[in-house]
Amino acid sequence: MFTFRRHAMPGGRELLLYGRQPHDMQPLAALPAEPPASAPYLRWHPLLGEWVAYAGARQGRTFLPDASACPLCPADAGRLGEIPFADFEIAVFENRFPALTAGEGGVAPIDGISVSAAKGRCEVVVFSADHGSGLGALPLDRLALLIEVWGARVKALRDEAGFAFVLPFENRGEEIGVTLHHPHGQIYAFSFVPQRALMAAKAQVEAPVVVRLIDELPRALLLDEEEAALSFVPPFAMYPFETWLAPRRRVAGPDALSAIETESLARLLGRAVRRLDGLFGRPMPYILTVQAAPRGFEDSFHMTIEIRPFRRDSNKLKFLAGVELGAGVFLVDVSPEQAAARLKAVDPEAGR
Ligand SMILES: [Zn+2]
Repeated sequence: MFTFRRHAMPGGRELLLYGRQPHDMQPLAALPAEPPASAPYLRWHPLLGEWVAYAGARQGRTFLPDASACPLCPADAGRLGEIPFADFEIAVFENRFPALTAGEGGVAPIDGISVSAAKGRCEVVVFSADHGSGLGALPLDRLALLIEVWGARVKALRDEAGFAFVLPFENRGEEIGVTLHHPHGQIYAFSFVPQRALMAAKAQVEAPVVVRLIDELPRALLLDEEEAALSFVPPFAMYPFETWLAPRRRVAGPDALSAIETESLARLLGRAVRRLDGLFGRPMPYILTVQAAPRGFEDSFHMTIEIRPFRRDSNKLKFLAGVELGAGVFLVDVSPEQAAARLKAVDPEAGR
């Protein structure tokens, strides 16, 4: 169980503080509101049948500030931050540079192209007040709290606010364009179900694909087992060292996990990131996504936490190139079985 405090930010943005302890600190001064920018909007790609989002205001985002100017660190008297408190456990706030917004004001038509307001909500999730931390370093209970926060946000945004698809994720590493080092992730709530999410959800209406995957997983691909969840390299990995976590029971999203499942996934999450960091002896750039059921697919969907690493060798990054972008076919130079063997050779508890 967690406690929860809502705080209104300049400009009306919401700040939500989640923790094991009640948060009752007095607010300090906060960063001023951004002047209203041109609203983001969507254009329809007529060949691929999917939306493309345009959000020009994001070019003005804070880019790799010094730790002393980090906007995600707790505020103090000398520095304004996003979170106007001297300490916190996990903080969630509406992004100052959102790619999806309430969609008020409409969109000007463009000849020959279907356009739409980019309706939705973009949130930032700060995992810790500690600038130097990360998912591999956080204590088990903080990882469990993070999974509970993901669940609370999926429930609030999909079930209460009525968004069609909610994606919690973490982009980690300068190599893939992260602009702030402070450990944080994001949540995008979409007013539509994006094409890939829809494909994955529909596949699970046809057949219990993830249940079968777990039941029939070859031992060679299993990384770690817990009472209620497991981590593994999927037999169809599209990235070298790709790592998935899943509860054993079919659970539609982090909002529906039991306490035991949450704790099992928390332990697996820390271990998975430490295995990836240990692989080449340096922090692994990755994209982590929490795949929860789109609205309407709660009765067939099996949630997964998917980590796609971008380092394929100690000095080589994985890029999407001609075949991936031109044909949609991923070329992977490490087989899932080799990847699992190498990840298993890393001791995830070394140095803890
Ligand atoms: Zn920081």
